[in-house]
Amino acid sequence: MAELFGGIEGGGTKFICALGTNTGEILAETRIPTTTPADTLSRCVDFFEEQATTFGNISAIGIASFGPLDPRLDSDKYGHILPTPKAGWSNADIVGTFKKAFDIPIGFDTDVNGAALGEWRWGAAEGLNNFVYLTIGTGVGGSAMINGELVHGLLHPEMGHISLVRQENDSAESVCPFHDDCFEGLTSGPAIENRWGKKADTLHTGHPAWEMEASYIARALRGFICTLSPERIVLGGGVMSQEHLFPLIRKKTLEELNGYVQSPQILEEINDYIVPVTLDGKAGILGAFLLGEYALKN
Ligand code: ADP
Ligand code: ZN
Repeated sequence: MAELFGGIEGGGTKFICALGTNTGEILAETRIPTTTPADTLSRCVDFFEEQATTFGNISAIGIASFGPLDPRLDSDKYGHILPTPKAGWSNADIVGTFKKAFDIPIGFDTDVNGAALGEWRWGAAEGLNNFVYLTIGTGVGGSAMINGELVHGLLHPEMGHISLVRQENDSAESVCPFHDDCFEGLTSGPAIENRWGKKADTLHTGHPAWEMEASYIARALRGFICTLSPERIVLGGGVMSQEHLFPLIRKKTLEELNGYVQSPQILEEINDYIVPVTLDGKAGILGAFLLGEYALKN
């Protein structure tokens, strides 16, 4: 019998909890609304207690959470949500809550790193040691694996907040409260809606929104290619479900690089270089099982 892992994908609207294995099998799953930390986390604890009664002992739990958060093991604030505008969640002790309830290893990382891990083990970045994963949805988040390790650094990367050069014909206000020119502020789903006055999923494929969107994303990818030298870039999130964006982004990324990066993977195989996610929304929870597995091993 394969070892059992608990996985949590903690988001701003819901916490998805699942029981599964490190081979990517999901045995049970539930969705718990994100209300207060006390209410939401105690319902997550109840779920895993029930699952352990049905399926047997859980070896470890991995948590991939919304942030900002502190993933540094040696920090006083390890496992906590850092100050956030999300009411009630500033300083919530996520890992501590589960440690109190279960005497097993608890893994903890960002939701974006969780999804990147899932795509790495079973999806679009399988077998790579260096890649970038970006999600473009309600916000923009990014994750980088370098030499087989996800980058944490000071806290964790905030790739959605790099600055972009505004397009000349774009006077729309940024939706990021911190920056008037950042990747998230200009390209997230809410940014598209704010600029064009219509929900992103209602804009037809020929709408000028997409040309602009692809230009901004390509500019950002140039930055990540030139700083991190990824072997592939995986793009997910609600906005990237617009499949017609991919050919546009690939073309514009080649234009942005302008022949400078002399790699056949980019120059000749761009269709395999900039790719969509393949786990269809399951990457986060599967990655959470892997965070549990890492916690058990380390
Ligand atoms: P989240 O980022 O909240 O985890 P998603 O990645 O699904 O979730 O992003 C949701 C956002 O993506 C929505 O607010 C919307 O702006 C945008 N979105 C969702 N579906 C589409 C679509 N089919 N086309 C374009 N944009 C979409
Ligand atoms: Zn920003």
